[in-house]
Amino acid sequence: MRAFEHRTVASAEEAVAALQSGDAGAASLIAGGADLLSLMKADLAAPTQIIDLKPARALQGIQIGPDGATRIGALTTLAEIERDAGLAERLPILPAAVRDAATPQLRNMATVGGNLMQRNRCWYFRGPYECWLKGGDQCFARDGQNKYAAIFDDGPCVAAHPSDLAPALLALEASVEVVGPSGARTLALSDLISAPTAERRRETTLGPAEVIVAVMIPAQPTGARGVYLKLMDRQAWAYALVSAAAQVTLADGHVARARLALGGVANAPRRASGAEAVVEGQRLTPELAAQVGEQAVHDATPLAHNGYKVQMARELVRRALLQAAGMEW
Ligand SMILES: Cc1cc2nc3c(=O)[nH]c(=O)nc-3n(C[C@H](O)[C@H](O)[C@H](O)COP(=O)(O)OP(=O)(O)OC[C@H]3O[C@@H](n4cnc5c(N)ncnc54)[C@H](O)[C@@H]3O)c2cc1C
Repeated sequence: MRAFEHRTVASAEEAVAALQSGDAGAASLIAGGADLLSLMKADLAAPTQIIDLKPARALQGIQIGPDGATRIGALTTLAEIERDAGLAERLPILPAAVRDAATPQLRNMATVGGNLMQRNRCWYFRGPYECWLKGGDQCFARDGQNKYAAIFDDGPCVAAHPSDLAPALLALEASVEVVGPSGARTLALSDLISAPTAERRRETTLGPAEVIVAVMIPAQPTGARGVYLKLMDRQAWAYALVSAAAQVTLADGHVARARLALGGVANAPRRASGAEAVVEGQRLTPELAAQVGEQAVHDATPLAHNGYKVQMARELVRRALLQAAGMEW
């Protein structure tokens, strides 16, 4: 690992100023360090200055407002989400999403902001290869070892987004509060994590001197129930092969509202809007749930070694929907 200077800041604004001083790209934020330090050890990130956000108190904690909206500070750890009684009662999809993420030790370190900003796990990206995302001409995973890659083709890179938190937040229609050189702004989670483009070879749209302050979750409809399901190579300490998040509201025996999102299948967590449209307004039956699962993958374009993910995604959407509706699956 290369030498670097470590600097602490007490606020997001101080972090923005620190990111702006010095050469472009020379400074990097650090929160739990669970991803950044791995990137630095692999020489995939080489900041000369590390801006440590941990003392910034305004970025910590979980608050539920009088209007029912929930604010989760960017420095909140995955372990805090896992254990928070208010979330367990009102937004159980979130503790469920982080429960199988990484290990207990890592969940004590890893923060919400870092989880959303973590880089992908594609071995061509993590390894010593000049892949497209690192400025090369081609994505080696497309025709190479693509067992863990995306099954939806959203651009030149086929790395799957690794976050468990992000699909659950997408199903909750979360937004992200950001502070940068021009002040504060709020953007939808779907606008923060999005497929890399030729102009932006990164998984997120966050500006180089911007800091995530918090994630905001709007009040959910009365009676909404959430489920997060994750399939892994093994039962612990593994990234999702595929995950599905379902946030469902029933009224008079019908599905009044369904929000469905998939993880591990695309460059970004993927909202299954077409599948939601199939079920909304309908009485849910096992047959309809199967149709919804089918719709969620109808436009998948798997690669040579990851066709199995299509079947997993179809099945997880079916199960998550039925479970969220309180039905046998
Ligand atoms: C062995 C292992 C297994 C894992 N398994 C899973 C898993 O199953 N599911 C899962 O979801 N994740 C998993 N992870 C990933 C882990 O959850 C993330 O690495 C972690 O959440 C990153 O958070 P952090 O606070 O440590 O971020 P850091 O490593 O400190 O930072 C990561 C990136 O985020 C940026 N950043 C951090 N905070 C902010 C902020 N407030 N604003 C802007 N940018 C910011 C940093 O600059 C850096 O680029 C695993 C990690 C490991 C090492």
